[in-house]
Amino acid sequence: MREPTADLDPEQLAAVTAPRGPVCVLAGAGTGKTRTITRRIAHLVGAGHVAPGQVLAVTFTARAAGELRARLRVLGVGGVQARTFHAAALRQLRYFWPRAVGDDPWQLLEGKLRVVGQVAHRAGADTNSESLRDLASEIEWAKASLVTPESYPAEVARVRRETPAAPELVASVYDGYQKLMVDRQLLDFDDLLLHTAAALETHAEIAVEFRERYRCFVVDEYQDVTPLQQRLLDAWLGHRDDLTVVGDANQTIYTFAGATPRYLLDFSRRFPEATVVRLQRDYRSTPQVVSCANRVISAARGQPAGTRLRLIGQLPPGPEPTFSEYDDEPAEADAIAAEIKSLTQDGTPASEIAVLFRVNAQSEVYERALDEAGVPYQVRGGERFFTRAEVRQAMLVLRAAVGSDDGGPDDGGPDDGGSTLVDTVRAVLVPLGLTDEPAAGTAGRQRWESLRALVGLAEEMTAVTPETDLARFVDELATRAEAAHPPVVQGVTLASLHSAKGLEWDVVFLVGLVDGTLPIQHADGDDAKIEEERRLLYVGVTRARRHLAVSWALSRAADGRRNRRRSRFLYGVIPDSHPSARVPVGRGGPKPTCRICGAPLAGVEAAKLRRCPDCPADLDVGLLERLKAWRSAIAKQQQVPAYVVFTDATLTAIAEHRPADAAALVAIPGIGARKLDRYGTDVLALVAAPPD
Ligand code: ATP
Ligand code: MG
Repeated sequence: MREPTADLDPEQLAAVTAPRGPVCVLAGAGTGKTRTITRRIAHLVGAGHVAPGQVLAVTFTARAAGELRARLRVLGVGGVQARTFHAAALRQLRYFWPRAVGDDPWQLLEGKLRVVGQVAHRAGADTNSESLRDLASEIEWAKASLVTPESYPAEVARVRRETPAAPELVASVYDGYQKLMVDRQLLDFDDLLLHTAAALETHAEIAVEFRERYRCFVVDEYQDVTPLQQRLLDAWLGHRDDLTVVGDANQTIYTFAGATPRYLLDFSRRFPEATVVRLQRDYRSTPQVVSCANRVISAARGQPAGTRLRLIGQLPPGPEPTFSEYDDEPAEADAIAAEIKSLTQDGTPASEIAVLFRVNAQSEVYERALDEAGVPYQVRGGERFFTRAEVRQAMLVLRAAVGSDDGGPDDGGPDDGGSTLVDTVRAVLVPLGLTDEPAAGTAGRQRWESLRALVGLAEEMTAVTPETDLARFVDELATRAEAAHPPVVQGVTLASLHSAKGLEWDVVFLVGLVDGTLPIQHADGDDAKIEEERRLLYVGVTRARRHLAVSWALSRAADGRRNRRRSRFLYGVIPDSHPSARVPVGRGGPKPTCRICGAPLAGVEAAKLRRCPDCPADLDVGLLERLKAWRSAIAKQQQVPAYVVFTDATLTAIAEHRPADAAALVAIPGIGARKLDRYGTDVLALVAAPPD
């Protein structure tokens, strides 16, 4: 068991050892937030401040919750509950329902499309599958945001929200949906949270019992909490303040679903006595990856951008990130599959490699390419692991083995400890196809990898708790199946950027980075949505420990028109020396083109801005103001008109490009060696300074 306070930097240590009460860790990716909360829990438990069973740790995805549990187990505090909000609420509601509501049974509705479809039909709304999906998401947003059908039209007008149909029509579908759910005694995922919160809010004896049971709350990824989740958290807490939250506003990626970083950013206002810690040292990634991440996020604007933290890489240097352009998607996928194959042949475990994309539909072409290359993979973090035929079969035979013989075929009882569990599991799985060497063929290989992953889990559990027996192992499998938390499969992870949050790999391929995919097309014209897309890229970049490979393809199909452009977010991220960072060559010689729309540029202003004057600007308004204030001071000091220092157009260009070094600064038209000499240091310092 590891000492909870070992290997922590002074700021992490301050958060870990803070007395019971409110604690907030506000920090960038890879700075050890998740490590800090697991250590804090271990410290509080180890010092006797709280019993493991009294701690409830929550996060947002099943895989992240699994990651938390695994880290807690290694620290010897496996008894702590670590769940998603939904899984925690589901458990609590099952327990409290008879007292809160009575004998009426209820059922969980997993997908709401059919019910929404029935109501939409009656209400006269569009019922094609895309419209229904939009309506269902809108209902989810409303419920997560605590907006009722009655208040929906006024609320969407207030927040200027784009709605999938006329607000009154959406409200009527939403209202009909709620009524139908009650009639059919169905609860959706949001209802789980709502009913649990209501049970605690309105039934004093339930609240007393709950608060007796749980005394200490911890939330990871707190930047993505919704008002509904916050309400549940408040109901859990009651009047107490034993709450540790950690998050990174720059990784807020679920605002489309109602999440908001407000609670994270306002934490110290709500709890003025809170211990607040900021972390800047990045322990995950090489300085090369960290610098790429800093470049991506330095262009961010809006509220979370106001909390910008610059990451400082702590690891030894590694390779520079690569940026590759392909003619089409199949070529991109084939090249990446070949690269992955050679990495695995050189000894990189496949489980240390991830291919991350913006939308799940992008997965297919990689599944095909990896199949062809004979590389095992798991899709989207492996939620489907427990639905694989071989895994279901293995769970059945393992459970049967518990009933028939405690020790398994090698007649060692559970008390023999050590390798007994591993040997038993292995012996039970041999008849299902677990051989010493990987099986041939893609299907055979996947089957083998699944079985091997189960043995790996047995090894992992035995390493932490040597006395683990088969019954305990089978229970763990059942818990993981319910929480969709697979053991580590020796396969490449194919996952969406959303589902990759909080996780890390040695090698990360960020693929399909074209405009229209990242940022996604429907974000266009909405600054807040564009910023969320930029944060997704930041999340993606910061998943890599050592190797980061960014790529995109000019056409979707192999014989398609090559009319796509790489993501606009890569502007300023790709080094200027990179071939694809160069201005494309048009007919009649090189012509500068707009970095936003790609059209040829005309006029001095356009050349300076490197975009058409009427194309959307990605201007850092705060920086422009700071630059102008600085220019006034200099002009006054030198007794010259302000434009002699820099023209407005040049300052605007600086505030858009945000040059990170002298080379980038002189690349802006209007800034030559003389200006660089005179003002370079000042300007670069202004660009680099985080806003107050
Ligand atoms: P994210 O924002 O992506 O969720 P995070 O802030 O939660 O990141 P962690 O996952 O806790 O970061 O840590 C990132 C990596 O750095 C992990 O591999 C962790 O073990 C390691 N790490 C964190 N703190 C330290 C430290 N003080 N010394 C050495 N390694 C550390
Ligand atoms: Mg984390």
